[in-house]
Amino acid sequence: MTDASTLMQFLFALRSKGVTDARVLTAMEKVDRAAFIRGLFAERAYEDMPLPIPCGQTISQPSVVGLMTQALRAGPRDTVLEIGTGSGYQAAVLSHVARRVYTVDRHKRLVTEAREVFDQLGLTNITAFTADGSHGLPDQAPFDRILVTAAAEDPPGPLLAQLKVGGVMVLPVGQSDAVQSLIRVTRDERGFEYDELRPVRFVPLIEGLGRDG
Ligand code: SAH
Repeated sequence: MTDASTLMQFLFALRSKGVTDARVLTAMEKVDRAAFIRGLFAERAYEDMPLPIPCGQTISQPSVVGLMTQALRAGPRDTVLEIGTGSGYQAAVLSHVARRVYTVDRHKRLVTEAREVFDQLGLTNITAFTADGSHGLPDQAPFDRILVTAAAEDPPGPLLAQLKVGGVMVLPVGQSDAVQSLIRVTRDERGFEYDELRPVRFVPLIEGLGRDG
């Protein structure tokens, strides 16, 4: 873990960017982001910036992780599906605000490495799979909450179908080379409601497994 003043600055930066939910801030205080970054960049784990991880992917900026977690409004009884495990950091934050987290990535290497960190940190309520998340996770569906951390042009149909009535999905939509919109989809008995939250930039959601997996 990092020293107290670095952690205070980290939490202060999160609050100043709009992460105000106490449960989210507590979760982010508990999860050591440096554990999810291998090599030299680990030194920069407490700066509010995205950083490179293997397979040409990125660990999202902490304030974006916080804002997305906050927008998801997950509670302690909820089962969450995350698409795009990446480093595993977002899943680890979710594991402190929800009951159970399923996370999938199309790169086997990222899933294997993330699992190692979940074990090391004792996060036993996360299950990670190598899979194409654009199909969701039919065997474990439906979900109370779905968080997508790669950008699709539109919300994938299978993910909408796997969201419970009363459920919430947060995802970036738009083309990968442009600024995307973070949207929140809420499902009720009558259908789906869409809210646009803020501009974001994510790597694209790509169909099929990665070449290593
Ligand atoms: N949430 C991650 C960051 C995700 S980066 C973290 O906290 O570190 C986006 C991830 O989405 C990448 O790892 C990429 O491999 C993955 N991805 C892209 N398309 C996918 C798909 N169809 N299914 C599953 N994962 C996908």
